[in-house]
Amino acid sequence: MVRFMNVTKSYGSLVVLDDLNLDIQRGEMVSVIGPSGSGKTTVLRMLMTLESINGGVIYIDGKPLTHMERKGVLVPADEAHLRRMRASIGMCFQHFNLFPHMTALQNCMEGPVQVLGLSKAEARDRSEELLKMVGMIDKKDQHPSRLSGGQQQRVAIARALAMRPRIMLFDEVTSALDPEVIGEVTEVIRRLVAEHDLTMLMVTHQMGFARDISDRICFFYKGKIEEQAAPEQFFTNPQRERTQQFLRAVK
Ligand code: ATP
Repeated sequence: MVRFMNVTKSYGSLVVLDDLNLDIQRGEMVSVIGPSGSGKTTVLRMLMTLESINGGVIYIDGKPLTHMERKGVLVPADEAHLRRMRASIGMCFQHFNLFPHMTALQNCMEGPVQVLGLSKAEARDRSEELLKMVGMIDKKDQHPSRLSGGQQQRVAIARALAMRPRIMLFDEVTSALDPEVIGEVTEVIRRLVAEHDLTMLMVTHQMGFARDISDRICFFYKGKIEEQAAPEQFFTNPQRERTQQFLRAVK
């Protein structure tokens, strides 16, 4: 579903992703963890085509993300190709960035109406269904300033899903939340992934969250995957010295 093939990204002389290879299967939930500056968020930014690539190719469903094939040769993609590819990817960040002047419902309807061209009635039906799923239908007419952090995060998840992405990216979605709300958001994400047949890639500093929700943990170190394994194996029996050091430090 998602494939990073020999992807390299640098800023000047700083190599942030170093010949990265990463494969994510359809329906898989993968967490990226690792020290600060190891390139975790850069991976998400590249998938959102917010950053150019210095080397390698990213494939989504077998299609190059930022390139198109012309007569058997890969050439840089045009805007139309980028728009099509971006439409399959949704994202949710730590700072929810809901539109402050819109209600929860209006926040969810905005993308489907403006970008997908749905009628207001269709967008409302879709958005209300999602707000119901994330347990926010009772608050649909509230503005973000009247919602708690966990509630805003749930609206942000509904808003991203209203665009019907097939891949969801989460960056530190639980960092700003109280511990008791994390469980709530975890449950919502887990349920949505199962019901919407989503593939998920998330960056987190919270090991409990990563352990609870993921099928696989990828530990990044200096722009490469140092170790990857199922959560049970990863947390109870890490193989690499650097992983062991990291896990000791974050405990
Ligand atoms: P954290 O856990 O602290 O969020 P991270 O693993 O997500 O870290 P990235 O945000 O991917 O790290 O950044 C990787 C490296 O790239 C860092 O050293 C960062 O300073 C650098 N970097 C990121 N964006 C830019 C930029 N636009 N220009 C220059 N350097 C950048």
